[in-house]
Amino acid sequence: RKIPIRIKHGSKKDYLTSNDNETNSLCCAVMGFSRTERLARNIMDDLGDHDIVVLCVLKGGYQFCADLVDCIKVLCRHSNKTLPMRVDFIRLKSYLNDQSTQDLHIEGAENLSVLSGKNVLIVEAIVDTGKTMKTLLDHVEAFSPKMIKVAGLLVKRVPSGTGYLPDYVGFEIPNRFVVGYALDYNEYFRDLNVRYSFLLTKMHKIKYIA
Ligand code: 5GP
Repeated sequence: RKIPIRIKHGSKKDYLTSNDNETNSLCCAVMGFSRTERLARNIMDDLGDHDIVVLCVLKGGYQFCADLVDCIKVLCRHSNKTLPMRVDFIRLKSYLNDQSTQDLHIEGAENLSVLSGKNVLIVEAIVDTGKTMKTLLDHVEAFSPKMIKVAGLLVKRVPSGTGYLPDYVGFEIPNRFVVGYALDYNEYFRDLNVRYSFLLTKMHKIKYIA
């Protein structure tokens, strides 16, 4: 069953949405452009010519972050803007099986002093209730960066969420547990062989498993 996909326009709302919770609901064969590339373009427009520190949220964010950084580099090569980047990593863990827990473990938080006075772009694969990102933002803010922006590939529609929305959003998705594209279920399925094009072509490449 195919449900028409609506595109909202506007800064934070400039992402795809659909009312369908079927596996193919994000079969976004829309307009033939890569969503990650689009996010990279928005980031370049806002941050171009600034030095930034990209803070990749592991483990789930590694694939999206790598693709996003690649897209930004390609855009830099083909435009007169530059975006000098340093890429850093932080590891967060808040999920047990497919359930969000209250315990958020941050590994690498002790090295965040490098963010002081810097323009920081946090790159996260998925925002669910938003609690993880809010906690991370509190941690990062304590190191007084000049500016913080957040790019999230997927944002879930959760009624119990905090309402938090990243500055750059790829897709809004139904409230189901997804794996693939570096997202795991207890360390399984990260390696489902997908790249960002999965979001544009075949949704079967990302799996809802709960
Ligand atoms: P939140 O704190 O926003 O509820 O949860 C965000 C974190 O939970 C993400 O960093 C991610 O690790 C994990 N997470 C949330 N939803 C999913 C999901 O559908 N699939 C996977 N693999 N991880 C998820």
